[in-house]
Order: sequence, then structure tokens, then C-alpha cells
Amino acid sequence: MSSTIEDKSVFQSYFLAEKTTDEPLIRVMALHALTYCERLFYMEEVEEIRVANANVYAGRRLHEELEKGCKKYTLELASQELGIRGKVDYVRTDAGELIIYEHKKGHSNKGNQAWPSDHIQAIAYGLLVSEHFNRPVKELRIRYHADNKTIIIPFDLAKAKEEVLKAVKRARELRSSVQRPPVNVSEKLCRTCSLAPVCLPEEERFAAEEKEKPLRLFPAEDEKRVVHLLEQGTTIHKDGYQFIISLPDGNKKSIPGSNVASFVLHGNIQISTQAIHFCAANDIGVHWLSYGGHYVGALQKGAGYVQRRHRQYEAFRDPFFKILLVSRLCRAKVENQLKYILRATRSKRSNETQGQEELQANINRIRYEIKSLAKIEESLSKINNVDLIQYDRLIKEMRGHEGRAGKEYFNALSCILNLKEEDFLYFAGRNRRPPKDPFNALLSFGYALLYKDCVAAIQAVGLDPCFGFFHTPRSSAYPLALDLMELFRVILWDMPLVASVNRKQWRKEDFEITSKQVWLNKEGRRKVISLYENRKREKWKHPVLKYSLSYSRTIELEVRLLEKEWTGQAGLFARLRVR
Ligand code: SF4
Repeated sequence: MSSTIEDKSVFQSYFLAEKTTDEPLIRVMALHALTYCERLFYMEEVEEIRVANANVYAGRRLHEELEKGCKKYTLELASQELGIRGKVDYVRTDAGELIIYEHKKGHSNKGNQAWPSDHIQAIAYGLLVSEHFNRPVKELRIRYHADNKTIIIPFDLAKAKEEVLKAVKRARELRSSVQRPPVNVSEKLCRTCSLAPVCLPEEERFAAEEKEKPLRLFPAEDEKRVVHLLEQGTTIHKDGYQFIISLPDGNKKSIPGSNVASFVLHGNIQISTQAIHFCAANDIGVHWLSYGGHYVGALQKGAGYVQRRHRQYEAFRDPFFKILLVSRLCRAKVENQLKYILRATRSKRSNETQGQEELQANINRIRYEIKSLAKIEESLSKINNVDLIQYDRLIKEMRGHEGRAGKEYFNALSCILNLKEEDFLYFAGRNRRPPKDPFNALLSFGYALLYKDCVAAIQAVGLDPCFGFFHTPRSSAYPLALDLMELFRVILWDMPLVASVNRKQWRKEDFEITSKQVWLNKEGRRKVISLYENRKREKWKHPVLKYSLSYSRTIELEVRLLEKEWTGQAGLFARLRVR
């Protein structure tokens, strides 16, 4: 006669408190991850990166289904001797012996075997149950729901112990390291891995020249919304899993928390403590901008990024490594400026472009700066080290080339705008802090939004925005966010802005104009936000990785590729170009 463990009150709610040794117990699920891929184990257990994809949700739904209509018992067990803890799906007794069940929503291995990661999970539960009840375990049954198969594994206590202790030893070794293990599992496993968008295994294989074209495992679009709030006096509260936005005129709107990527609060907007807690717990960004469009700060979650930041600090201590990144970044920025100017002038009839000669001179001078940057890059390829004196000299040289090219670019920009001198948007060169004319006010506000997105992407990846490689910490702005912005100024803001100006989409009434400065009013800011957010949603084909994704996702992708410069295969950062 057999009976389920739930029939017996003695089996209700077990948990053996973990204590004593300094070594924390390893979750059985972590052993599952370790056997699947060491890199996955490291990212989940050590770096605490968790991403729930469709497979993860399907697994959770399966367990909810299985628990429906049953009395719910928690069978959580821990063993100091084994160094593990875990929650068992289901246990039955059969003639005094125990049978352990593990449910999986996927397919079995080749239709007749358990997957190695499921196997270790099941035998670890077998050991926990047998130790706790001091009774023999007869067998383990892994039920694969997708192909309706149950794989039975006879339980061999000694062999199971040996296997689990070996895995625990390896897990502890990995835990004490600050380095992520390399990508070394089969491509097939990566395709169903929830952490593929963080790990970017295909890009790693591509950079290592193991394949010609990476498969895109990185999400192409944002599934959630960025919510900008501009109405002064608006408040945000939380109600269950919803955000309630209360407008000053008494109207209320509710937004499901699961739909929000981040809030951008412009000026005097209140957010409740409960809403902030919810945002922090659910990776929802909160960014504060002043009424005038100055970036004030962001919600920063505590800890959790220790290993990633440690690796970043180590990498940025090497002046040669930094100089290589600077040279690549400067080339990317200046080449994008040139490509855009050439593209904008090509699409016009020659007599439409004002100041043809002047424009050609600007283009020639930008080309000259690119050549100079290329020479520096070439000289760097022949050495593998620089001392601090060389570093200072090279940085100054590159800043000089990049700065001069930028000046020529803005001069050229004024030529490709269809504006006459008497036009209120006429652009005669870049000025800021504060902007003194409407076009500069538009540039500055768009760049503030871009800066916010760069900070958000850096935070999402877990790097420290305070430590950059090109910009120095001279102002309160984050140097790494300023570095990253250089890749996107032209693509994400200059291009749509110039197009909107040439389409005559701006009115003088969109601005507040005084003799000393110009800023956008509420309507003007709304128009910028809409133009910018629409641009972010546009999809494009990455010129090197050859897959399509939105500009918005490209920002995060670049930060992840930057991190790969010191954690994996280098060479993909800052290679995007205007098409
Ligand atoms: S994507 Fe592949 S290499 Fe990366 S953690 Fe997942 S299984 Fe491992």
C-alpha cells in the first residue's frame, strides 16, 4: 500500500534552520543551474542576476497548477553535512520506502533520460529526504510534462552523495571567485537559457570568430513603457501591483506595475515611499529631472553589483586598456558625425544646401580629424602598454581631435538645417548651460533625456557610472554615462531633431525666451519627449552584429558589449555606425 506524504500530519512544514559554518548552504536549484552551465550558476547565485523568461514563467505556472486543489505543505529541507538546502516538489511512501517526484514542464532528454541538471536536482532532494526522515529512498521520478514521460532513477545513496558533494565543492569554488566563468556550453542550451540576454553568448562566439552571424537572443524591443510625468503637482502611489497617478486636476490613472520600465519625473512630482520600494524591488527605474530639464538623479538599488563593479575598477586601472577604449569611442563618434552630414547633404539637391563651400570645408576638416585618430589607433596596435605620461599625452591628443571634429560638425549642422538667419530656430553654433537660443535648448533637453537613458542602461547592467574611461569627473554628471552618450548623440537625437526642424514642427510658443537663456515650456517638452521616445522605439540593423533591434535596446546592448571588453571576448563595443 502506498500513501502520499501529505496524508500525514507529521510531514507538515519542515525547515531545518541553516547555521553554523561560514559557508552558506547551496540551493538545490543552484546545483541545477551549475550542472546546466557554470556561467549561469555564477550569474544567478553569485551576482544575483535573475531574469524570468517564458520558460521560467511556464515552470512556475506548472507548479501552481499541480498545487491546485491540494493541501499545501512546504517541504523545505537543509543539510549541514551536504551543504545544501531545497524545496522538494512531492514525496510518496511505498512499503516504507520513499519515492521523490520532480515535475518539469519541458521534454525529457531523448525521450528516455533525465537531463543532467534535473538528475542532480533529483538526487540532491533524495539525499535531503533520506537524511531528514532517516528512511531509505527507493527511487526518484522526474515527470516531463511536455512529452508526458516519467523517467525513473533508482536511488544509489553513496553514488548520489559523491556526485552532490563534488558539485557543492565546485559551487563553493565559483562563489569565491570574482570572475564569471566563460561561455562554454552548447548553443542549444543558450537558446533556452533565461540569462542569455545578459550573458550574450552568441555575441561572444561571434567576437571569438566561432560563427559568422550571431543569433539574436537579446530582446529586440522593450516590453515595458517609460512613463514621463510633466504635470506639476502630480503624485504616484502604489495600490497592490498597480501605480496610481493622481493629476492635479483630480483625474487618476492606473498603470500595472508590470508595464512600467521606468518613471521620469520632470520637476515637482511626488512619489510615495511604498511606490519607491516597489520600484526598487521590481527593477523599475525612477529618474528625477528638474523643471528646466537638468538631470538630478536616479533611484539606485543597494548592493548586488559587487563583482561587476570590482571587475570594472580593475579594468579601468589599466591606462593602456582605457586608451584603447577612448580611441575606439572617439572614432565611432566622429565617424558617425561625418556619416550623418554626408547622408543629410546627399539627400538634398545641391542648391538646397546653404553654404556649399563652407560645408565642404567642414567635411574635409572632419575627415582630417578622423585620419589623425586612425593614426593614433594604428600606433596603439603596435604596442601593448603605455605609462602615465604617454597616457596623458594620448588622451589630450584624442580629445583635441574629437573636440575639433565636434566644432566642424555643429558648423556643418547649421548648413543642413533649412533655416534662414531671421528664423527663430536659426543655429549658429553650440552653446549650453544655459542654452541661449531655441535650437540649443532643443539639443540640451534631448541630450538630458539621452543621458538619463545611458544612466539607466549602466545601472541595468550593474556597472558603476562614476567610473568612465574618457570623461573625467569634473562635473556632477556620471563620467561613464557621458562616455556612452557619445555613441548615441547623433543617432538618437541630432538626426530626428534636424528632421523635425526641417519639417517645421516647432513653434516659437514652445519656448520660454529671455535675453539670457531659452528653455522649453511644457508643450515644447512634451514634443521633445514624444520625438525622442518614438526614435528610441524605431528598429535598425546593427551594422556589425547584423540583427535588428530598437535603438532603445541598443543602448543597453552597448553597455553589455562594453562590459565584455574586460569580462569576455573584446572588440564589439563602439562599432555601431550611422547607416
Ligand atoms: S546563455 Fe549560455 S553560456 Fe550564458 S549562462 Fe546561459 S547557458 Fe550559460
